[in-house]
Amino acid sequence: MTATARPLTRAAVPPGTLATYVLLGAWLAHVLVVEVLFIKYGKGKNSILTVGKFFGLHAAMIMMLQLILVARVPWLDRRLGMDRLTRWHRWIGFTLLWTVLTHATIVVAGYTALGSEGPWDTFWSLAGVTASMLGMIAASIIVVVAALSMRYVRRRLGYEIWHALHLLLYVAVGIGLAHQALEGTTFTQSTAAEVYWWTVWVAVLAALVIGRIVVPLWRNAYHGFRVAAVVPEADNVVSVHVTGRHLDKLPARAGQFMIWRFPGHNNWWQANPFSLSAAPNGRSLRLTAKAVGKTSAGLRHVKVGGRVFAEGPYGAFTTLHQTRPGLLLIAGGVGITPIRALLEESTEPSVVLYRVHNEAEAVLLPELEALARERGARVHLLTGRTGAAGRPPSAAAWRRRFWPAGSPPNMPFAPENLAAAVPDIAERDVYVCGPLPMTEAVLRSLHALGVPRRQVHAERFSLA
Ligand SMILES: Cc1cc2nc3c(=O)[nH]c(=O)nc-3n(C[C@H](O)[C@H](O)[C@H](O)COP(=O)(O)OP(=O)(O)OC[C@H]3O[C@@H](n4cnc5c(N)ncnc54)[C@H](O)[C@@H]3O)c2cc1C
Repeated sequence: MTATARPLTRAAVPPGTLATYVLLGAWLAHVLVVEVLFIKYGKGKNSILTVGKFFGLHAAMIMMLQLILVARVPWLDRRLGMDRLTRWHRWIGFTLLWTVLTHATIVVAGYTALGSEGPWDTFWSLAGVTASMLGMIAASIIVVVAALSMRYVRRRLGYEIWHALHLLLYVAVGIGLAHQALEGTTFTQSTAAEVYWWTVWVAVLAALVIGRIVVPLWRNAYHGFRVAAVVPEADNVVSVHVTGRHLDKLPARAGQFMIWRFPGHNNWWQANPFSLSAAPNGRSLRLTAKAVGKTSAGLRHVKVGGRVFAEGPYGAFTTLHQTRPGLLLIAGGVGITPIRALLEESTEPSVVLYRVHNEAEAVLLPELEALARERGARVHLLTGRTGAAGRPPSAAAWRRRFWPAGSPPNMPFAPENLAAAVPDIAERDVYVCGPLPMTEAVLRSLHALGVPRRQVHAERFSLA
């Protein structure tokens, strides 16, 4: 496959920073407008209810932000990456939970202070009012989903079950919106406020529907993805080649991933993210999957010619974020997939460090070496178990022969070993993809070596 060479773009403001500022700027502008509307129209029947309304409005705003973070807006996704957006979504989700609970508690306290009933009876009286009841249902769903998203519970639920339950939040958004429309005086007391809120809600929901439903459906209809070949790479690794119409129009870059469904092979609700293991060339796409569970293990049995439903491309692990001419590409195990694609796209001499337990595990190695020869890059295969017996080789040994025969390096990503292997490391952009402990070790070493943060890019094969 031949990669389409892309010119190196060096923006004055790094794309990730720009996207963060844009998102933050839009959010702050929205907060400002809502605060002004609150000051003008937000007065409740007593001061406690005024505070309750304040939290209610902020719950609505947080909900909007949550939807934007998962709307898969391409501009944001390419700059911030789905992993970062999902991480933000997770933490902001817990903020939403506390804001909703605070809102509900204060509103009950406010009505209790107004009437003659105690808090419990006030709660039940409010439950009899449609607008409040809707708010209570939305809050209950948010509480349940937040509880299911706690790490302890989440780890014990299968991905698909957790994801299906998480989708209940869309029901909470719908009900919460109805609650806001019926209840919120800041929403209904002036035409300007009403127009403003509806405009923002429509824009947010449109972004969500377009990003999550319209674009994927349209792309799959337009490209008509099909399995072109299934190639075993090792006992537990397989590559699936996918073709389709007009693939040159698919805005995919090396380093990105897609979320794949293979109808007939697995259930329609099962979708798995796999990186493109070759740079997109306008004619075909390739994914390379290691067998870890039912879907990935079964990929070697997908039928050639069968339909593929693919969402994406997604991700910010691309040369859009490259700041320096030289690349250091570090892969561990199946993390080689996006690294292989990035090497194919690269136009400058790169260095590739490929960490595996033994050579038999080094899938795609021949391709990697062929690409390296074409591009004047260096590939170093780092075998052995991290922390195995034996002293780590000295920096001088690394410089002489990379590692002395018979004494495999057991800490290849220790700062001194990384620096010895790639002396100009601080002048390069470093892309790392591999198992979490390896990735974290590399990131720590890069920090210790003073490689600037903007030159470091990591793909963790994990979205939440
Ligand atoms: C951005 C990204 C890129 C990836 N690229 C590759 C690659 O190039 N090659 C490769 O071998 N693996 C890759 N993975 C990992 C791969 O997605 C999982 O190994 C695969 O989904 C496991 O599915 P399974 O059904 O076989 O196993 P299961 O046992 O069903 O799943 C194992 C774990 O995989 C994760 N997972 C499953 N489905 C999803 C999903 N839809 N979204 C997020 N996580 C999910 C969950 O954490 C789950 O617990 C990537 C993951 C991510 C997030």
